[in-house]
Amino acid sequence: MRSSVFCYAIFMDLDIAYFSMEIALSDAIPNYSGGLGVLAGDALLTMADFGYKAIGITLLNERGYYSSILNNPWPKESLLKKLPFTLPVKIEGRVVICQVWQYDLVGQFGEKVSVYHLDTNSEQNSEYDRSLTSYLYGGDSRYRLHQEQILGLGGFYLLEKLGFQVEKTRIFHLNEGHAAFFGLALYDWCRQRFLSHESALGFLATRLVFTTHTPLPAGHDRFLKSLVSASLEPRLLKFLPETAFDQDELNMTRLAMFYSGIATSVTRKHRALTKETMPINRSLLTVTNGVHHLRWTSSFLAELYDQYCPLWRRNPAFLHLAGRIPPQRLWQAHQKAKQKLLTWATQKSGVTLNLKHITLGFARRMTSYKRPSLLLSRLDELSRFGYEVGPLQIIFSGKAHASDKEGKVLILKILKKASEYQDSLKIVYLEDYDMDSAAKLVAGVDVWVNTPLRPYEASGTSGMKAALNGVPHFSVLDGWWEEGWVEGVTGWSIGSRLSGIGVEDRSDQDYDEEDLYHKLGSVIMPLYYHQPEQFAKMMINVVSLNGATFTTHRMVNEYVSKIYFPLKNRKRFDEIE
Ligand SMILES: *Cc1c(COP(=O)(O)O)cnc(C)c1O
Repeated sequence: MRSSVFCYAIFMDLDIAYFSMEIALSDAIPNYSGGLGVLAGDALLTMADFGYKAIGITLLNERGYYSSILNNPWPKESLLKKLPFTLPVKIEGRVVICQVWQYDLVGQFGEKVSVYHLDTNSEQNSEYDRSLTSYLYGGDSRYRLHQEQILGLGGFYLLEKLGFQVEKTRIFHLNEGHAAFFGLALYDWCRQRFLSHESALGFLATRLVFTTHTPLPAGHDRFLKSLVSASLEPRLLKFLPETAFDQDELNMTRLAMFYSGIATSVTRKHRALTKETMPINRSLLTVTNGVHHLRWTSSFLAELYDQYCPLWRRNPAFLHLAGRIPPQRLWQAHQKAKQKLLTWATQKSGVTLNLKHITLGFARRMTSYKRPSLLLSRLDELSRFGYEVGPLQIIFSGKAHASDKEGKVLILKILKKASEYQDSLKIVYLEDYDMDSAAKLVAGVDVWVNTPLRPYEASGTSGMKAALNGVPHFSVLDGWWEEGWVEGVTGWSIGSRLSGIGVEDRSDQDYDEEDLYHKLGSVIMPLYYHQPEQFAKMMINVVSLNGATFTTHRMVNEYVSKIYFPLKNRKRFDEIE
């Protein structure tokens, strides 16, 4: 153990240390950008439910997700507990001091998982160093490299400082490549204990797990070799393997892949893509993402589940009994969730929305690969459906951030045009998409829409949240939807149904648009307006098939049984998938 003035306890062991650049804990702590952080928060909350000895390690991200506007810092003092020690992280030869802030996630039986936030905003640091944990994904490549040094290397010192014995920790889980330097620190630790290269790799192989979330090579973090050489300690530099470099750039995904014994993808489709585009030296398995059932089910539906599927809180797989719920009752509970959403959305947008009208939801970062414009490309046709089948309401939500500006401008332009169709078509755009608005949206709309460009959606999780609330999904067959889609039963596909995999699997823009409009006007809207009992039955199927399955309860169980504990049959799983 490193010489430490302060220690919680000596010789504590730990089941899981989980590293993530962002961990979404609550909207009061806006240190996440979206899917990755929400997944990390849901996973850790599930570990607390199970009572694992787990911790989360992340950066403070004091001013949140990077934006062109200067965000005010969130009040860390009132939301987190400051720990009475600091950690030194060597960057460019100088020592950067990290403070540590703790937040406890409490599981449903009262067990806690602590999340530690590393914070360089200390008076002991230079102005630049103080800013290193200000912005999530902010700054230039050098800033980002330094952030990742803090996460990976600072995270390692933290474990020691907290009194966890490295050799007794079961699993170190790197959520995305941002914390790949942790692998270096762990390897270095082994070598300092006189383990040979092979023994050190062997130690890491059974303990370090890496989950990649990025669908295509361009999305992986890369840093110029010269930048890395100037910043990383020479002792660690020499442990960077040749295979972690793309010519003169260090690739953090490759680094994480090299040191971890096992890597996981977030859906089966994503695995195939990763196999095609990344050099994989060890096993690549799949653990499909999930969402926390208690975090994302509206209280109106939860009440019904308590009555008809009483074990669902402990184990959401029991939602498979949703078929016992009279469809009429599910429909009524959904109306309550819908009313709550519409009241809130009306208040925010000034547009009066109607409970009786079919309401589509589309909310995500307005990046181009999500194609927010696809659903709005033919306003005349949407309006015609509104007159011929029944009125149509669409609620959009997105983040008001720099990278989303283009998408937002586009949508505002469309909204202006849409106001001409008032009676038949209402479209609103709600700013500041966060967890609270996401929870209202996924529960309160009638159909959840997703239109990513294939194959860019590694997983996606918002459709899973909708499923917990009985809301069918209408989406391009990418990411998780390929594993949850049953046409007309759990939702509807958009575009090609070919089970395409790999980089060659590209969306056909025209066909996607054609299919989207065709199904909306002649399948989905008629079902809602002319066969409401059938629609309600479909909602039951959505819960019992997808709500019961796409949870972090299932996901964490799968991590434990398939990944965290070495399986004799791991190879076979690998081959099947
Ligand atoms: C669930 C969630 C996401 C991820 O949604 P996808 O569109 O499925 O990737 C993003 N942001 C927030 C606030 C969420 O709650």
